Amino acid sequence: MDSSHNKLATATLSLVVLVFACVTPAAARQASGERVSVLVNGRLWTGDATAPWAEAVAIRGGKILAVGSEEEVLAVAGADFDRQDLNGAFVTPGFIDGHTHFGRAGALLMGANLLDVADDASFRRSVSEAHDRLPSGSWMLRGDWGAYDLETSWVPSRQLLDEIVAGRPALLNKWDRSQYLASSRALGAAGIDPAGHDGLVSGEELARIQRAVPLPSLEQRLAENRHALRDLARHGITTIHDITGPEQLRLFQYLRDEELLTVRVCARPTLDKWEQLAAVGIRNNYGGEWINICGLKGFVDGIMGNSSAMFREPYEHTPNSRGQWRTMMSPPGNMERLILSADAAGLTVTIHAIGDLAVDTLLDMVEMAVATNGYRDRRFRMVHAQVVEQDDFQRFGQLDIIAEINPFHAIDDMRWMEERIGERSVGAYAFRSLKDGGALLVFGSDWPGTNAAWYPADPMQMIYAAVTRKTLDGQPDGGWYPAQRLTVQEALEAHTVNSAYAAFEEHFKGKLAPGYMADLTVLSQNLFEIDPDDIKDVSVLRTMVDGRWVYIASTLTP
Ligand SMILES: [Zn+2]
Repeated sequence: MDSSHNKLATATLSLVVLVFACVTPAAARQASGERVSVLVNGRLWTGDATAPWAEAVAIRGGKILAVGSEEEVLAVAGADFDRQDLNGAFVTPGFIDGHTHFGRAGALLMGANLLDVADDASFRRSVSEAHDRLPSGSWMLRGDWGAYDLETSWVPSRQLLDEIVAGRPALLNKWDRSQYLASSRALGAAGIDPAGHDGLVSGEELARIQRAVPLPSLEQRLAENRHALRDLARHGITTIHDITGPEQLRLFQYLRDEELLTVRVCARPTLDKWEQLAAVGIRNNYGGEWINICGLKGFVDGIMGNSSAMFREPYEHTPNSRGQWRTMMSPPGNMERLILSADAAGLTVTIHAIGDLAVDTLLDMVEMAVATNGYRDRRFRMVHAQVVEQDDFQRFGQLDIIAEINPFHAIDDMRWMEERIGERSVGAYAFRSLKDGGALLVFGSDWPGTNAAWYPADPMQMIYAAVTRKTLDGQPDGGWYPAQRLTVQEALEAHTVNSAYAAFEEHFKGKLAPGYMADLTVLSQNLFEIDPDDIKDVSVLRTMVDGRWVYIASTLTP
């Protein structure tokens, strides 16, 4: 054990335990032993096509013992069990989020999120909230102001920032990183005299301040992790397919060792690490039921938010730009080599492609990998698959490709999509066409988002978006390209069974069935029975992971 791990264990354990005391798996296990618990009187959507509905479920040792009618389940439960009445509540398999950035989410949940800030009043509100959350003396960073008001010329002043954060070092930036604002303390930390300085820094001054920013302490990282875990639990998410860096992987391991992890993690290191993983014998699904490595993540192009996704023809609003390739695409042949080698080493490849040219280019590369390495059950995943040309949809089926899609991005990007790519919008977020083309659909939130947009890890908003294709305030009437809507069942499948399949975990996760993990989510409404417009307002009543409640918003029995 290295010294920093010791420090981490001793300095923060008491704090961590305090926060999670009511719901830790360890505490719950001590209290319940390996007793059978039975949840009765529910409306359970099981995700199991052969028996989609049930009213009761028996659980023992973190696994589902039986699911079915109350009579069937009680027959299996034996004489001695704990009984909980679901009071008619709607239950789904725990939601599996196919795309998260856990480490960044915690930092953003605790720090300054200024995406929707474009005036002094909202700046004051958001910055002071972050100031209250952050440990005293730590740096306040990023913020990304102005992303939801693209025309804004508003710039916050150093006086205002200083007034709110008092002596805290802060370095905030506009969403497109064209402007940076430093507090007096941040200027001072870099040896710049704040007297008479307006706080706006660039070039060498900016570089000096950035060099003065220390790495976050382990205490801070753990505090951020706790914020992130709470956010996932309250949204009913029981597994994440995370884009995980080495430091966060270690934090996950620490949280798991201390039985504080309340979400299962399928980690996806970056594709260029394939060689190191393969060299030490790591293959697909290395790890266990809590933390495993279930794939590698590569990048073909940029994103829609800053118009860097790669298109065949120029953008409408910037006619001299078609977007940008990411660094993995150079030198020419690099991405092909990475895909071929990782695939041949038995690792699952998942790759980000957004613009129509990026999608088409990636399809060609997958075709080449299949031809070269031969057929196997590889479950190649295209991440985002956001704008697809009409004749490319069928290639998803031909090549057996999983499309990891982001319904919430669709209803967020709708505000400027047509202005940027015009008629090509017909193939944007084309969920129905992807499914008809043979793609297996997996939902991912991309939580917490980019410097240009905030993406909540909220399955209700995601399902609402896929089923209605309307903004959160109900626009446009009838939905945006309504032919691309999904049904409630298709959306639920994309958030449970299909995501389990994408990670080769369909034999123990994603369904409520005997032998499966006791991961489930209790909702306030039956999604199949309400007006689709109301799905976004459905709340999570409870979340169970490994047979224990990790989130309790409400008692189930009146
Ligand atoms: Zn992402």
